[in-house]
This record gives sequence, C-alpha cells and structure tokens, in this order.
Amino acid sequence: VYVEDLKVSNMSASAGGTKESPGKNVRQKSGLNRSILDQGWYSFFQMLSYKLERGGGKLIKVNPKNTSRTCPRCGLVSAENRKSQATFACIGCGYRSNADEVGAINVLRAGRAQLACAMSGAVRPLSAGTRRDPLQH
Ligand SMILES: [Zn+2]
Repeated sequence: VYVEDLKVSNMSASAGGTKESPGKNVRQKSGLNRSILDQGWYSFFQMLSYKLERGGGKLIKVNPKNTSRTCPRCGLVSAENRKSQATFACIGCGYRSNADEVGAINVLRAGRAQLACAMSGAVRPLSAGTRRDPLQH
C-alpha cells in the first residue's frame, strides 16, 4: 500500500511564533492543526502498517512533492494543471480528470518506483514528475 509521506508534525507546527517575531494567521493555523490532528493519521498509518506486515505486505510512504501537479499522461509538472481542489486539467496535453484520482495515480507510480529502486539497490527514488534525461548518466 502506497501513501503520501505527509509530515503531520510539520504541518501542525505552531504558528504562534516568538515574542520578538509573533506568528501570522495563528487562529487559522490552530484550526488547521485541530483538523489535521483530529484525523489521527499517525495512528491510522501505524495500524495499517502493522496489519499489512502481519499479512506479508508493506506500507510504503512516498515523497508527496508534485503528486497533485504532475500530469499522469505527459509528465508535465505545473501548479496551473490544478484548476481547483477537485479538477485536474493539464496545460500541456489537455488531459482532464478528478484531482484526487490524479494524485492517487502519481502516488502509486512514485511508490512503485521507490520499491523498484529499493529492491535493485539504487539509493534515491524519483519523486513524481521527476524525469531523467536518458542521454545523461
Ligand atoms: Zn499532460
């Protein structure tokens, strides 16, 4: 099972700032913190990982960078591909789909690439949208 490696602790870091440099958007951030923490993602992933490993599977966390902005058809990475929270529309090739579905495709691909790299002994997995020039080694 492949999931985005969301840094829940980073996302929920305090916006309070310091006395010399007070934080901005403290009220909005504390509301966001509550909603992130309420999801209980940490516990959920721990339990999921435990259950998977008991059954011979594995939970693989992938770098979430560009998973929502990469076109699964042509590979173009652009913030403009993301028309709204729900809609993905590639400015390069015109591919359109539900944004969550595009994210799931990209997480699956990045996870499989990461697993393949781990099994072949390669050191760094590619994140979604990373393209290597085949002529450069
Ligand atoms: Zn495209």
